[in-house]
Parts: sequence; structure tokens; C-alpha cells
Amino acid sequence: MELLANDPAKKTWLPTPVDTDFPIQNIPFGVFLTRDDIITIGTRIGDTAIDLGAMHQLGYFDGIPLTDDIFLQDTLNDFISDGQKTWRLVRNRISEVFDIENDTLKNNEAHKTIILFALNEIEMQLPVQIGDYTDFYSSKEHATNVGSMFRDPENALLPNWLHLPVAYHGRSSTIIPSGVPIHRPMGQTMPKGADKPVFGPSRLVDFELEMAFITTDANKLGEPIPIAKAEEYIFGMVLLNDWSARDIQKWEYIPLGPFLAKNFATSISPWIVTLDALKPYRCAGPKQDPTPLPYLTLNGNHSFDIGLEVDIVTSEGIATTVSKSNYKYLYWTMAQQLAHHTINGCKVTSGDLMGSGTISGPTKESYGSMLELAWQGTKPITLKDGSERTFIQDNDTVVIRGFCKKSGQRIGFGEVATTLLPEFQPKTKK
Ligand code: CA
Repeated sequence: MELLANDPAKKTWLPTPVDTDFPIQNIPFGVFLTRDDIITIGTRIGDTAIDLGAMHQLGYFDGIPLTDDIFLQDTLNDFISDGQKTWRLVRNRISEVFDIENDTLKNNEAHKTIILFALNEIEMQLPVQIGDYTDFYSSKEHATNVGSMFRDPENALLPNWLHLPVAYHGRSSTIIPSGVPIHRPMGQTMPKGADKPVFGPSRLVDFELEMAFITTDANKLGEPIPIAKAEEYIFGMVLLNDWSARDIQKWEYIPLGPFLAKNFATSISPWIVTLDALKPYRCAGPKQDPTPLPYLTLNGNHSFDIGLEVDIVTSEGIATTVSKSNYKYLYWTMAQQLAHHTINGCKVTSGDLMGSGTISGPTKESYGSMLELAWQGTKPITLKDGSERTFIQDNDTVVIRGFCKKSGQRIGFGEVATTLLPEFQPKTKK
């Protein structure tokens, strides 16, 4: 099916700011609460949120096989389950309705009042109910930096790393949308030189600059997804901040990997940008040497050129960009990650979230965590207000942005912004 929605020449009758992340070529999917306290599935063009539930009830999706309540839900899981063909039909139709040449909705004031919302009239929710969350570890630069710091610079990459996309199963209950603040976690740490652990608030709270993809129902138990088919089962991508408590992590992670250092919060951006919308920004990933095993081999452009930025915003509102990276630096592609994930027959379902792992680039400015940017606390970062950071301080907000740009066209993800509050204080009874 032709991706008519991707036509770069297409213009919309909705007002769109210059350089918006959400031109008519994007058409992401999300879930929001409206001014009338109704939860609905929607999309966004420029700074206008569009209620797809209302559009469907008013007949704008006539001719597309959709159940009546497909958009009147609090998650996108069922719509994602409908599969790639339906996603494409719906995205193309939205693009048609908002095309500058199409007067149908444009001239229907009554319908517009029901369908269109300003961003300050809505509250974004988690877009999917996430059944399972997997976090990969697919940046060679990040794995090398962390291996150098925590183990041995001479043998920074463990022997398996170049042969398979390393990952662990994370926790979905603490995945939150942009805007929800978190508390500094409490936990057990082993101070340097001490002979027994201590308990208290983590002193080394960090962000991890990541992206994640969201899958549809892909396979039955026992059935691997061949790598050549893997991308058909990927609905789209979001920005992800995998909050990490480095001091807790260092003490607890041997031998089974991350646990409480990672599962206190994971933030994602609320609009899922489809893999279809990202098609113009496909590119090759880094050359893989040694050549992976055949079940992980796929030629062609299977990475994406997505610029990424991280800001630390102080409690006074002063923002400093501390990292500029790119999704294309990742060594392992999404297709390889999904093929590997299911090669043993592991079942993947609609709404599963697969994190990329921290995306660090080749230069010091492109590292994707404070652990690397400030090199384990030895090289503090100076912010615009003159203050220094080695990790994240109480009341700092971490903002991750992501966008593709090519030949004057831009498609973006918006942002994921999360404020770190001081440690949780139990309420005292009056
Ligand atoms: Ca991670």
C-alpha cells in the first residue's frame, strides 16, 4: 500500500508552526484526556490534537474495516493489533481529511468543535498498556564506556556483545508518560572502601538517553519472527528515559543484572511516531564485524537518522543541552533485536515496549548518560547558570527531544520531560 501520508509536498489546512515536529507527514498516535474528562485515542498536527474517536463516530473513517469503539479506548493496543494494513489505511485517511485541498471537515464548524483540541485542553496519557518491557544494550560506545569504568578498559566489551543484542527484561508497572515527576529512590549501596552496605537515598541518579519501539501481536508461543519480517510487527517509536541509580546498580547488579536501580521509573514520550512516518529517514547502521549469525543478518537500511538531545533544566527553569546524539549510532537494529528476542519462541504481544539501550555516540558530547558525560563524577558538567552536575540533582528536570530532518522536512517525537523530586516522605497524620 502506498504511504500517501508521507507525500512531502502535502500541506494541511490546520495552522502549523514552522519547524514543528508534527507536520501532516507525521501523524503519530497517542491517548489523551479531553477537557470534558473523556479519554480517547488521537493524533496531532502542529499544535492541534485530533480526537480520532470523534472522527470515527462522525464517519470520517467510513470504508475502513474498524470496530465502532476502536478509538474510544484508553490504550492503542487493540488498534495496534489490527495490523500494518489498518495502520496505513487510517494514517492515509487522516492525511486526506486534513489536506489543504479537502474542504469536508475544514468547512464543518460543528464537527471541528468536537474533533479538534488545543494542546492546553488535553492531558497526554501512556499510549499503550505495556505488557512486557525489554531493555536492550545496543550502543557499542555506551557498552564500551560502561565496561571501561566498571570493569576493564582493555576488555570493555564482554565476549558475547558483538554476536548478539544483549538485553534484560524490565518492569512495566513504573513506565510513565512525560510530565509525571518521580522521587529519588531509596536503596542499598556499598560506599567505596566500606565493608558493609548502607541504606539511604541514591546519590547517583542518572538518565539514560534511549528510544523504544512498540510491537503488535507478532507470533505464537514457540514461533520465531524471521528477521526479514520483523519490521512489519513494529508499530512505531517513542523517546525513552531509563532512569538509573548508579550507586544501587553497582552494588546489586551481579550476577543477574539491573533490578531496583532501574525499575523505579522509566519515562516515555506520549506520541508514537510510526515506522511508516520514519521511512524517509532510513539509513544504514554501523558496519557489523564480525558478521552476525544468519538469523541476525539483514542487508539494507534498517537504522534511522534521528537526532537526539538531552537538556537538564534547573528548578529556576534554566535549560542546558548536555548531550547531542543520534539513533543511527546504535550497533544493533530493531529488526535484529526483535528477531533475536523471539528466536527461542518468546511471545511478543501488542503494546510490548523494547528499549534501545543508552544511545551514546563516538564523541564526548554525544554520550547518553551523566555516568559517561561526567565520566563517573570525575569531569563535572557546567550548566548555563554556572552550577555543576555529575549526576541529576533534586528538582532538576531532564528533557529528551528527538527529530529527523532531511531536505527541509522534519518529523519529530516532541519530548519526554521528567522532574526528579527529593526522596519520598511518608505523609504525617495531623
Ligand atoms: Ca537502559
